[in-house]
Amino acid sequence: MGGNRRNGGVRLIPAWCATLGACKAEAVAIRARCDTCSGWWQADLDRMIAGKGPAYSLWDRRGKCQTLGCKGRVLFLYTSGGGTPYRPFKTRD
Ligand SMILES: [Zn+2]
Repeated sequence: MGGNRRNGGVRLIPAWCATLGACKAEAVAIRARCDTCSGWWQADLDRMIAGKGPAYSLWDRRGKCQTLGCKGRVLFLYTSGGGTPYRPFKTRD
C-alpha cells in the first residue's frame, strides 16, 4: 500500500480515493462511523455522487449521523477491499 506515509504529521491523500468519483472507479468501500452513538453503516457511493458530485472529497469532512435522535457527526473510512483494514479519511490525527 504505502498510502500511509507521513509528511510532517500530515498524511498524503492517495489519488485512488481522493474524490467520490475516484472511489467509485476503484470500487472503494466507504463506511461512516459516529463517535457519539458508536453506530456505523456502509455509505452508498452512488447516492453520495448524486448529491455531491464526483469531484467531492471526503477528506477531513464530517457528515451527519443517520441514527434516529443522534446529533453526532460521522467520520468516513475507506478500504480498497481484500481484507485491508478501514482507514479514516483524515490527513491529521
Ligand atoms: Zn450517531
